[in-house]
Amino acid sequence: MSQVAVVAVGGNSLIKDSKHQTVPDQFAATVESSKHIAGMIQHGWDVVLTHGNGPQVGFILRRSELSIHELHAVPLDYCGADTQGAIGYMFQMALGNEFRRRGIPKQAATVITQTLVDKNDPAFQNPSKPIGSFMDRETAQSHREKENWSVIEDAGRGWRRVVPSPLPQKIIERDAIQALIKAGFVVVCSGGGGIPVIEQEGELIGVEAVIDKDYAASILARTVGADLFLISTAVEKVALNYNKPNQQWLDHMTLAEAKQYQAEGHFHKGSMGPKIQAIIWYLEGGGKQAIITNPENIERALLGETGTRITQ
Ligand code: ADP
Ligand code: MG
Repeated sequence: MSQVAVVAVGGNSLIKDSKHQTVPDQFAATVESSKHIAGMIQHGWDVVLTHGNGPQVGFILRRSELSIHELHAVPLDYCGADTQGAIGYMFQMALGNEFRRRGIPKQAATVITQTLVDKNDPAFQNPSKPIGSFMDRETAQSHREKENWSVIEDAGRGWRRVVPSPLPQKIIERDAIQALIKAGFVVVCSGGGGIPVIEQEGELIGVEAVIDKDYAASILARTVGADLFLISTAVEKVALNYNKPNQQWLDHMTLAEAKQYQAEGHFHKGSMGPKIQAIIWYLEGGGKQAIITNPENIERALLGETGTRITQ
């Protein structure tokens, strides 16, 4: 029996830098990431791949804003589904080509994923995640009145829409994902944290919110009983005192140490913090091991040569 790894790839697996954002650029980045994922599969891992979608949702919203005099607005849940489909397509193609090149008899399949959130999650009373473009005060107020948007003034840079970021509770398509893993597919799912849905009178409905992709990846890892939870991001290792003169790169942390360092504030709230929290939840749920590294070091990290490993 091979082992299951949930691999959560960050923004840099799709957009290398601000000068490489076009669809062909994103595809090229996907091709690069796919080589490392194929390498993992050759080492015997069954890979379940999940990814972010922040910039891609931003692009769709911007197009929607620019064409609003002519075309209907795009709801956020629909943006989530659009980006899961488009990014899933890029990975299916890039992975498929890499598998053929290496003679790996596998296929990738994308599952459009809904993530259940609690309609009573306090995040709904406190929308905090900025999305879309900056606006002037009048435009912001008009959206607030006409479309019931929550808007905030962002440190003198203008006004922005904010949406809730509730905690993920459950993956709706979990049985489909499990069945595909069991059948040997490389599954791409939970993209962008999944499309947030709430349950109301026995039905699911999409909501205007976003889910943290690292938190959703943690639920995914627990749901599929992953033997490994690997988070691929822009740094080779996690550090204590990051970016300070006394910075110290970490090869290994125990769960207890991860919790202690998190409490001491070593991991920034909007970037490394959610990844460490996602790993803490995974290990507390009985997970075995997690790794944080960057795409180019995935294979070396699996051999224990680099990356930061977090275990019980
Ligand atoms: P992703 O798109 O993969 O979610 P993020 O930018 O959200 O990427 O998070 C990864 C970033 O977190 C790293 O590139 C690094 O700049 C930052 N970071 C914050 N704290 C730390 C830390 N203690 N150790 C390493 N990186 C950190
Ligand atoms: Mg992030």
